Amino acid sequence: MGTRRPFADVVLFTPLPDEQTFTYSLPEEMRDRVTTGSLVVVPFRERRLYGLVVRVRGLSPVPPDAIRPVESPVDESPALTPLQLDLARWMAREYLAPLWRCLAVMIPPGLVGQADVQLELAEEPAPRAARTTAQEQLLKVLTARGPVRGRQLDRLLPRQQWRRAAAQLARRGIVVKSPYLAPPRVRPRRIRTVRWTGGEVTEEEALHRLRSDCYHALFRLLTESDGPLDISLVYAETGCSRRHLDTLARRGLLTFEDEEVWRDPLADETFVPDTPQPLTSDQQAVWERIRPHLRRDESRAFLLHGVTGSGKTEIYLRAVAEVLRRGRQAIVLVPEISLTPQMAHRFGARFGRRIAILHSALSDGERYDSWRRARAGLVDIVLGPRSALFAPLPRLGLVVVDEEHDAGYKQAAIPRYHARETALELGRRAGVPVILGSATPDLGTYLRARRGELTLLEMPRRILGHARRLRDLQSRYHLPDTRYRPLPDGPEAARYIAPPTVHIVDMRAELKAGNRSIFSRALAAGMEEALKRDEQVILFLNRRGTATFVVCRDCGYVPRCPQCDIPLTYHEGTPRLVCHRCGHQENPPARCPECGSTRIRYFGLGTERVEQAIYRRWPDVRTLRWDLDTARNYAAHAAILHLFSTGLAHVLVGTQMIAKGLDLPRVTLVGVISADTALNLPDFRAGERTFQLLTQVAGRAGRGLRGGRVIIQTYHPAHYAIVAAAAHDYAGFAAQELAFRRDQGYPPYRRLTKLLYEDERPDRAQAAAEKLAATLRAALTAAGRSPDDVIGPAPPFFERIRGRYRWQILLRHPEPAAFLRTVALPPGWRIDVDPVDVL
Ligand code: ADP
Ligand code: ZN
Ligand code: ZN
Repeated sequence: MGTRRPFADVVLFTPLPDEQTFTYSLPEEMRDRVTTGSLVVVPFRERRLYGLVVRVRGLSPVPPDAIRPVESPVDESPALTPLQLDLARWMAREYLAPLWRCLAVMIPPGLVGQADVQLELAEEPAPRAARTTAQEQLLKVLTARGPVRGRQLDRLLPRQQWRRAAAQLARRGIVVKSPYLAPPRVRPRRIRTVRWTGGEVTEEEALHRLRSDCYHALFRLLTESDGPLDISLVYAETGCSRRHLDTLARRGLLTFEDEEVWRDPLADETFVPDTPQPLTSDQQAVWERIRPHLRRDESRAFLLHGVTGSGKTEIYLRAVAEVLRRGRQAIVLVPEISLTPQMAHRFGARFGRRIAILHSALSDGERYDSWRRARAGLVDIVLGPRSALFAPLPRLGLVVVDEEHDAGYKQAAIPRYHARETALELGRRAGVPVILGSATPDLGTYLRARRGELTLLEMPRRILGHARRLRDLQSRYHLPDTRYRPLPDGPEAARYIAPPTVHIVDMRAELKAGNRSIFSRALAAGMEEALKRDEQVILFLNRRGTATFVVCRDCGYVPRCPQCDIPLTYHEGTPRLVCHRCGHQENPPARCPECGSTRIRYFGLGTERVEQAIYRRWPDVRTLRWDLDTARNYAAHAAILHLFSTGLAHVLVGTQMIAKGLDLPRVTLVGVISADTALNLPDFRAGERTFQLLTQVAGRAGRGLRGGRVIIQTYHPAHYAIVAAAAHDYAGFAAQELAFRRDQGYPPYRRLTKLLYEDERPDRAQAAAEKLAATLRAALTAAGRSPDDVIGPAPPFFERIRGRYRWQILLRHPEPAAFLRTVALPPGWRIDVDPVDVL
């Protein structure tokens, strides 16, 4: 029996055994404020929980007296748009994730508070009998402090202990346990303001019999301003105090109000405005093919394959300008936080202040406000890494995914979504164009483009177009540097330059010739020359630390992480042995713990070691190191980039962080210390990663007028990924790599899903994996598919992480989510659909 009144179907923000929505009634006073997408607090069993309304309907599916009402709405407007709800449902299906987790990634952190328990002493304590020490301690805390929440107790007593004691005391009626739900951590920020209400009153009338000078200052300030003024500004400008303001308020001359202010992480940035330059012929050709589709609502996807420096960003800027002209908004994604500032600068220079950035390094308040400004339609462009895709823009008109091949677009935690695929899905659902851009497209994207699922656009030539940016930099930092003659503006400023020449150096030959240094003769000579000319050099090595591992020359002992079982990396600065998986640290051994020998050797290379080698060889050269050890946060990234781009250092040594997006015209030489780190990993994407990385790194050289050179050092000089990268031959690489993938049944020809199990005991992990593999094989056979599409089980490359043993199964299936739903998956398995690696 249904009743005609509004009911809300709510998804609760808590893990539940199976996907469920719960129905609540909507009290009269909430009917205007709660709709689909609203965040609410609801009662659930003995608890109160946050939830999201996924549907409002007039008819209840269950007897209405069994239904409890929604307790309260959380935020003033819906947290998610209907479009976002649909997208979250798609993510939940596609990536086998609980719906609430998909909804949660779309909501700014801090808006949904934590559910907790609150303990207090019963009003009339039951007679107290003998107690355990834990109970004593708990009672002492409760007596001293009054009601206490679980999170606070966690800081005072071991969790297991207080929980058990609390349960025991609650049973005996000594302690009362009640559910507690933390309010949202984030709130709008408001400031007090003062507004003049005295109209045309003259100064004499207004200030009649008031003596202090500051009244006159107040009068002038308030009557001259058009709107309300920030009260702290009023105090600072006039030297008056609250008493003076109150006096005028009593005379009816002013009122106090308050006003919301936005926390904006870009508030202190200055954007040097730029004007678009005429497009190059390559850009023009691409632009003519994109532009018509931006003028209507059309869910078309483009792959913009343009070499580094071909001017892809300029295409994004034009495309965004075009949709803005139609009153629409845009989302622009970058693969990692460190690339946000550069992108924000270029968009800020073109579009001014109506941009917002969204990423996890912002404060909760900044994130909340950027998100709310987007929701209120107060910004036109949202920029950031993958989660910026969920900005609730009301009139979305375009999504751009820069460096679409980057693995940073895959989220490692639940929901394990890929932001590129999710962007394409959003484009389809919203009916808007999506532009994917890359110099080294993901082979899957490339194959889809060649099959016509995406429109393939190519820009094969690099632009020489630094005149303007250089002048900006020079004036901004007062650089006396005049070596780079500014080019005249106009079409002649856009000319093409040849890609940097790339040399492959065979390190085996260096060894044979007696050169044991980490610098080949070619690289050393190149650096010598560049430094003499006062040009800049980038040295790339995809590994931190001083040495990869430490080995005993007598018995071959290698110190390993006791948790993860991978060799520890030597960091000389400290000096420490560090596990790069879990962070475990220990002292380097003076003697071998196995045989007692003191002949300990350090093998392999890290960025720190490169830095030292430079110092030994060129003591006067200023070197900067940019890796996870020197730049853990946003400010550190910005500082290093600033130091290097202003010319304060000659050589930049770094890991893959420096491979992406840097546009530094004074860099004429890029040296790849070792091209082999990615190549040697047992992953089917090792070749693709190596090609991408080398191409990206090479793209940092020769962006200015002086041209550039790249030197790649390798022990595999004939490997096709390295040869193709050196020849700037994407098509050649793609052909060879795609043939390999097709042969081996790997993506993009077959779809892969990774299933991973962890346990403290290796035998238990293995048994669980073998059992599931058998189940999956049987299910495949029953469905008429080949059981060979289950690969494994086997321990993955990283066999043990944080003390837990891992076993892995790979599944080839075109519809993994649908298939896995037909199998009763035991708990504890981690499912990664379309994984970016199988390590
Ligand atoms: P990509 O994103 O493909 O790596 P960018 O958009 O960063 O390339 O462009 C490389 C350089 O060329 C930048 O300094 C940019 O300002 C400049 N540039 C881009 N388009 C033009 C143009 N049409 N005329 C002159 N310079 C340009
Ligand atoms: Zn030894
Ligand atoms: Zn470890």
